[in-house]
Amino acid sequence: MHRYFADANVLDEDSDEDIQIQSITQNLKCPLTLQYYEEPMKARCGHIFDKSALYDMFSQRSVNAQSLPCPQSGCNNLVTKEELKLDRPTLRLVESAKEKEREINVEAMSDERDVENDGEFVTV
Ligand SMILES: [Zn+2]
Repeated sequence: MHRYFADANVLDEDSDEDIQIQSITQNLKCPLTLQYYEEPMKARCGHIFDKSALYDMFSQRSVNAQSLPCPQSGCNNLVTKEELKLDRPTLRLVESAKEKEREINVEAMSDERDVENDGEFVTV
């Protein structure tokens, strides 16, 4: 019986975390692709875009384009290929967010199993 209540507490904590993760993941998705960053490239102005989306924009501009206006609306900075840097902190956050999503999915599945076995669990 004690263990049952302990499990219930864990569930509550998880749902709080869900809300936090949702607000954090907003910053972990590329404003161009609206997906998690694959290769987050940081421009000098501090805006981060996925490398493939950004390079698509370069090539749409011209074959040898080396710069383009920052795709972030309201930002007038010029983004050049040369200054783009892989933003490792963002990459790590994306990876841990993805990992967390997988864990939540696994926990959701095992929670269902707990409910199904609840009757048996009390007799043990
Ligand atoms: Zn910018």
